[in-house]
Amino acid sequence: MVVAMMRNSQVLIDQQAIFSNIKNARENLEADSDLFVVLKADGYGHGAVQVAKIAQSAGATGFCVAMLDEAMELREAGIILPILVLGITDAQWAPVAADNNISLTISSSDWLKQAAEVLFVTKASTKLKIHVALDTGMGRIGFQTPQELAEALTTLKSLSKNIEFEGIFTHFATADEKKDDYFQQQYDKFNAFMEVVSDRPKYVHVANSATSLWHKICGGNMIRLGIAAYGLNPSQREITELPYDLKPALTLTSSLVHVKMVTKGTHIGYGATYEAQKDEWIGTVPMGYADGIARKLQGFDVLVNGHKCEIVGRVCMDQFMIRLDRKYDVGTSVVIIGKSGELQNTAEDIADYIGTINYEVICGLQPRIKRVYF
Ligand SMILES: *Cc1c(COP(=O)(O)O)cnc(C)c1O
Repeated sequence: MVVAMMRNSQVLIDQQAIFSNIKNARENLEADSDLFVVLKADGYGHGAVQVAKIAQSAGATGFCVAMLDEAMELREAGIILPILVLGITDAQWAPVAADNNISLTISSSDWLKQAAEVLFVTKASTKLKIHVALDTGMGRIGFQTPQELAEALTTLKSLSKNIEFEGIFTHFATADEKKDDYFQQQYDKFNAFMEVVSDRPKYVHVANSATSLWHKICGGNMIRLGIAAYGLNPSQREITELPYDLKPALTLTSSLVHVKMVTKGTHIGYGATYEAQKDEWIGTVPMGYADGIARKLQGFDVLVNGHKCEIVGRVCMDQFMIRLDRKYDVGTSVVIIGKSGELQNTAEDIADYIGTINYEVICGLQPRIKRVYF
């Protein structure tokens, strides 16, 4: 995997913005609650290890990732705070998790038995910590009924020599929406589940960013702060009132590598889909869909020197072309996400244009774009 260090296209990360988002989330929580920052997908494209370090200094008390490899990346970088893997890990890796003090999510009693077997066979020296997932309406992972949960808790008790019941959690499907009846249903189910839990584990957690911003955290004592740590609104444009300011941390910029005047009638790009309506200045930008600049962004306005400049012709794999308002020098900055003069393009603007959500826009920015921290 190559990171393009010699190309002038970069994701700029404002470390102060991440710090302030997490600090605000921290201050919005009860003092004895834990705050785990979600670092899956390389910290939503912001760089997991760098964000982990900022988060620690801003008061995060742990981290969540999607898979064990992501947790190992953090451990190898010297991060020692608790880490929870939110997805399901194959039971064969239980010893790796135990040895590295990484907590795993479980969704079935069979998994517990398999893991206990592997831990026994490999003579793991430390206990495996697990968090029990409850499916209260997300339909993704987790136990489905309080009876199933009760069985798993019995199994857990019998395996307590090798496995520690560290946490229990659920995930809301509609916390980012104004309508809250489905949220309420899930909350009721969660409470029914909790009735069979006689010994509450160390962590009880239900809140992603949206839940922590707009709902109670339902008797939990930890939140899993993802998108809000990066300064983006989990509700896009639906709920705009926020208990604290969210500062977007990510800017995506490039610069013109080629500028030319084309005459009226000239075609641009694959398929010759764009035809100059008059003599026009056209600039070429060295990024494309292989960087996460969606091909559907044809027609979207990027920003040059405080002016909107339309992407003309199809976005190529590594380059795209824009119509300039006048001649600019090669090397002039092009802003795809971020501010230019009085104007600003947000991740939401891009998401709206291509029919997705801000999450997918930032996670889609490929590792070959260099990350620069300031
Ligand atoms: C990704 C994820 C989060 C973080 O969600 P945000 O909306 O980014 O805050 C929290 N919990 C679980 C289980 C997740 O998968």
